[in-house]
Amino acid sequence: MSGGAAGVSNDSENIFSEWRWPMTQASVIATSSAPGDHVLPTDDDIFHHIAVLGVRELHFAHDPATDLHAIIAIHSTHLGPALGGARCLPYPSTREATLDAMRLARAMSYKAALAQLPCGGGKAVLLRPPEIRDRDAYFEAFGEFVNNLGGRFITAEDSGTSVEDMDRIARRTRYVAGTSRLQGGRGDPSPWTALGVRRGIEAAVRHKLGRNDLKGIHVAIQGTGHVGYFLTRELIRAGARVTVCDMNPEAVHRAEQVGARAVAPEKILDVACDVFAPCALGAALNSNTIARLRAVIVAGAANNQLAEASDAEALARRGILYAPDYVINAGGLVSSVLTDDQSVERKVVAICDTLTEIFERAARSGETPTQVADRMAEQALYD
Ligand code: NAD
Repeated sequence: MSGGAAGVSNDSENIFSEWRWPMTQASVIATSSAPGDHVLPTDDDIFHHIAVLGVRELHFAHDPATDLHAIIAIHSTHLGPALGGARCLPYPSTREATLDAMRLARAMSYKAALAQLPCGGGKAVLLRPPEIRDRDAYFEAFGEFVNNLGGRFITAEDSGTSVEDMDRIARRTRYVAGTSRLQGGRGDPSPWTALGVRRGIEAAVRHKLGRNDLKGIHVAIQGTGHVGYFLTRELIRAGARVTVCDMNPEAVHRAEQVGARAVAPEKILDVACDVFAPCALGAALNSNTIARLRAVIVAGAANNQLAEASDAEALARRGILYAPDYVINAGGLVSSVLTDDQSVERKVVAICDTLTEIFERAARSGETPTQVADRMAEQALYD
């Protein structure tokens, strides 16, 4: 032993001098095991939301070199590692981003539980800076953050991220799903999500209209991006009539090319149709939009479709059958978890049976389909 502080070898000196920790990371680990276990006094407090939503872990990372500000919420690892997309969007505040991560993580747990997948729910939220100067470095830094959680959280594509970003993350961690096929991943999950939504629409049409096929059924799709486009194609092939809208003219054009009719985005709620399929952003269903709907079924891919939990009852009061979003849109998640196309297809097609069971139970009990689905998921997660 020589030089340096007493008891520290040259080797150790190198280890200490080479060691660097560029990223600031902070974590909150909750002790509650079920939602509502420890409800704290003020409902404006983050700890209150942790308890009410039943979130188990909350992790924050900041990497000054790339301007990464990221949050990972882990809701449940009861059925397996928490899986959840990484969304990269501008947020008005860290608080809003944290709440979004926690709510979305919970929805992922419920989604995985009802799809009977061997994983729990989590979510990553990246507070998008005005400009991502170096996309490689930014997502590699995020990959390091994911890796530091040792496999308790596996990430995937979401709003504002792409398959290429998953490949960037994969340079730093193996805990990432949805990398490109070239990198050994399954690629874009949207066709699987669209297949599940089509199956869900079939279940809803059977339950509400007593029809065994979609011939002549009129579906109005709000948002014809990744999922909306594939859904349009699926529905047209099944003989349905499809009306679409999108803010992006290119997306509209693609849907028209496979046989859809287009209307302006502000007109989609006024389309008299059988099924309204929200496939754009969240909170499409609120007191204003529900009052305008001219459909008897709402069944689409968007996450968090209900602006308020009470909107499920507002839909039921209008006699509109609602397919809970996290049940009908689980196809993409299934495709990130299972490894071969046949198993994915079997599981995605089974979304139809799960929804039929939910609709039938709701009809018997007088509850909304959302209440029934939540209870089924909570039984799987907490019993
Ligand atoms: P996307 O971004 O490719 O498509 C969304 C489309 O909606 C875009 O073309 C956008 O221009 C359009 N849009 C936005 N606001 C609109 C408005 N007010 N009116 C009309 N169009 C509008 O996203 P996506 O991958 O197709 O996902 C759609 C929804 O489904 C999202 O809520 C997503 O979280 C959810 N989802 C997607 C998947 C998946 O596999 N991609 C899986 C589960 C859930």
